[in-house]
Amino acid sequence: MDYRSIFEDAVDALRTEKRYRVFADLERVAGQFPKAIYRDHADNERDITIWCSNDYLGMGQHPKVVSAMQETAGKLGVGSGGTRNISGTSRPLVELERSLADLHRKEAGLVFTSGFVSNEAGISTIARLLPDCVIFSDQLNHASMIQGVRQSGMQKSIFRHNDVAHLRELLAQVDRKRPKLICFESIYSMDGDIAPIKEICDLAEEFGALTYIDEVHAVGMYGARGGGIAEREGLMDRIDVIEGTLAKGFGTMGGYITANKAIIDAVRSYAAEFIFTTSLPPALCAAARASIEHLKGNGHERMMHQRQARLTKAILADAGLPVMDTETHIVPLMVGDARQCKAASDMLLEKHNIYIQPINYPTVPKGTERLRITPTPLHTDEMVFELRHALVSVWTSLELPREPADAKITASKLTSGDLTLPTVGG
Ligand SMILES: *Cc1c(COP(=O)(O)O)cnc(C)c1O
Repeated sequence: MDYRSIFEDAVDALRTEKRYRVFADLERVAGQFPKAIYRDHADNERDITIWCSNDYLGMGQHPKVVSAMQETAGKLGVGSGGTRNISGTSRPLVELERSLADLHRKEAGLVFTSGFVSNEAGISTIARLLPDCVIFSDQLNHASMIQGVRQSGMQKSIFRHNDVAHLRELLAQVDRKRPKLICFESIYSMDGDIAPIKEICDLAEEFGALTYIDEVHAVGMYGARGGGIAEREGLMDRIDVIEGTLAKGFGTMGGYITANKAIIDAVRSYAAEFIFTTSLPPALCAAARASIEHLKGNGHERMMHQRQARLTKAILADAGLPVMDTETHIVPLMVGDARQCKAASDMLLEKHNIYIQPINYPTVPKGTERLRITPTPLHTDEMVFELRHALVSVWTSLELPREPADAKITASKLTSGDLTLPTVGG
């Protein structure tokens, strides 16, 4: 049996479809984000600007966060030493979970090794503990939520993306006495759109369902204390389980759920993904908590983030680039073809020292391949103009489409008032 060729053929199939993935070898430079050193396949070095990081606020290099990690490692060492149950529950981890519960105004929090694991474990464990449960899941939910739904083995019902009428129809078809769990995200990060959270909570109330929201792309970035879209809209208390990551807006690593004590105690006690794995190291917990606490008390990063996102959208749309209309900090540029998307990304890196990873299937549907741009508070206005120059040049060279009709933001939608720099604080 030629085992090797089976794997090679599998990978060749991806090459044929133009979705073989090449990872960029990057060295982020603390204090200089979004600048980084890029090394090509021959280890040649170049300084580049990253425009696709999920370290949305640059907290991964924030001095308070870096020193929390350094100091805690110095005092407590590096590993956690065990699973949560067997010697791995460190003081910084306990404090982190309290800080997260407080962030979302919930009774308790539970930390996992990643956001992916928190969704898989959270959804599957909660659903399994509800006898004969039906899970209602948004069609565009993240792979980790889909994994949780599958893993639960419970009946599932997929509603059309953000379609409340469809969700109502599906809820109405299920016996009122059966337990129900509605799973959705606040911000869908590929299109940058926001869920109708209030309407979903209303339906949950009407049909007696539990609600589970993934706020991964919103925590740290929205709401007065960084509690996410649900905080901004005053809806945190209407959602039963709020899930988030420590790896994006908070700039570190790990995932979590927050909920009432009964739910948290049950997941803690039943989720294999939580029980049978080593806990996060104390230094990482301390860094994450420093980031969360900083963002609770300080709106500066959030404000600058929104400003730079609005500026980037307006500048790129004004240059005739196909910016998808979004209400959030995410700036998708539609290309619509895997090969061209990769070519655009390669050219940006080779000619302009700008790194934007192409987003391809299965992350987005085929035919909607795109460049997904994530401005941060640390991208200067000058960098935004450099980006425009580079993109216009690439779009012209490759003759890429400029106007996907229904997905164009017009610069006129943005008043100049949107772009003035508000005063620091809040
Ligand atoms: C990134 C992401 C996750 C996973 O979070 P990690 O901490 O990176 O594992 C979960 N949900 C959504 C919507 C995401 O985009």
